Amino acid sequence: MAIRFHRSMILACAATFFGCPASAEQIEAWRVFVADHSEPVVRAIDLRDGDEIERFALTGAARLHRSQSGRMVYAVQRDANRVQMIGTGIALGDHGDHGDITIGAPRLLKATLAGQKPVHLVERDGMAAAFFDDEGIARLVAEHAALEGTGEPQEIASRAPHHGVAIPFGVHMLMTRPHPSDPGALPVGLDLFGPDGAPAIDYAPCPDLHGEAQSGNLVALACETGLLVVAPGQARPEIRHLPYAAGLPEGKTTKLVGGTGLRYFLGNFAPRVLVLIDPMQEQENFRLVELPTRAVDFASHPAKPRFALAFTEDGHLHRIDVVAGRIDRSVRLTGLYSMDGHWSDPRPRIAVAGPRIVVSDPLAGQLHVVDTETFETMGSIAVAGEPFSIVAVGGAGETH
Ligand code: ZN
Ligand code: ZN
Repeated sequence: MAIRFHRSMILACAATFFGCPASAEQIEAWRVFVADHSEPVVRAIDLRDGDEIERFALTGAARLHRSQSGRMVYAVQRDANRVQMIGTGIALGDHGDHGDITIGAPRLLKATLAGQKPVHLVERDGMAAAFFDDEGIARLVAEHAALEGTGEPQEIASRAPHHGVAIPFGVHMLMTRPHPSDPGALPVGLDLFGPDGAPAIDYAPCPDLHGEAQSGNLVALACETGLLVVAPGQARPEIRHLPYAAGLPEGKTTKLVGGTGLRYFLGNFAPRVLVLIDPMQEQENFRLVELPTRAVDFASHPAKPRFALAFTEDGHLHRIDVVAGRIDRSVRLTGLYSMDGHWSDPRPRIAVAGPRIVVSDPLAGQLHVVDTETFETMGSIAVAGEPFSIVAVGGAGETH
């Protein structure tokens, strides 16, 4: 980590012979937010010492998403019919020649999104959209408004209740179109809404749509037939269909994550196979990565763009070299976690905190911390209950 001096300080310093004042203080801080599998509680934990900073009582058990800025955590409570929001207390600022960090207490915000059965939530550029399946309605909230306690959530309705997703895309909005006759079926395509929330201005078919992710300025959604890739266009976002290559074996993606720094998507494909997708290639967009056992969770690595991560049933965390398209390191972290049984059973989840990887181990009540480079365990943090859904926020910067 390079220590950078504030430009005005260097100038002031050069103008005097009395030596330089101490540089602005360089601080690094990382926090993980961990939701219990079945209890309505989220814990904020300081990664330096593993101490619990704060514990938040929610309405129901939550799945967590972090905002791109890291200032906010969204706690989606499917069975309690609401999304609550937690200010992480950490804000990173760009001062051009250096980064700033401000650190305060995490806090549960007043803002909530209420509605029937929220499942998928996507935040993009400071705007979050939660989709409420049993209403077929997306509710949107701006991160800054929620943090400041101002503003009312906006609503956009799809044609009918369904298991859908809505994605803010600049002034536009992407939202799934439900199956016309079977409300229990997956969506059949993607509608593009204009800035005024008026009727859809574009539509792209995508049979059995499930799974969405962002990478750079792109959004991808998984279909039975391939991927929809949404990119910024001249007047409106451009949606194109990237079909699965003819030579691929039987399989399809239903969960996607997106690369940071490198534009790629990583998805499930078959029980022991992940797929790396390069949306910008003319051909050979799809590369398969075989795993030793079935995947429990997978993630991109925001701080080390070359690597992605997968956790498998045999208790191992794997580092995937996304350039080479294969696993290059593995480490055993937990006992066995079978993918048999209910989809919502407690199983490990991955979060990345700068150079460190944190894996929740709900059955052991632990968080395991792994160094990305050595790929060895740095230690474990005991957490009461069943630590499950996890996100990390933080970074390094000056305080002044
Ligand atoms: Zn500054
Ligand atoms: Zn889903």
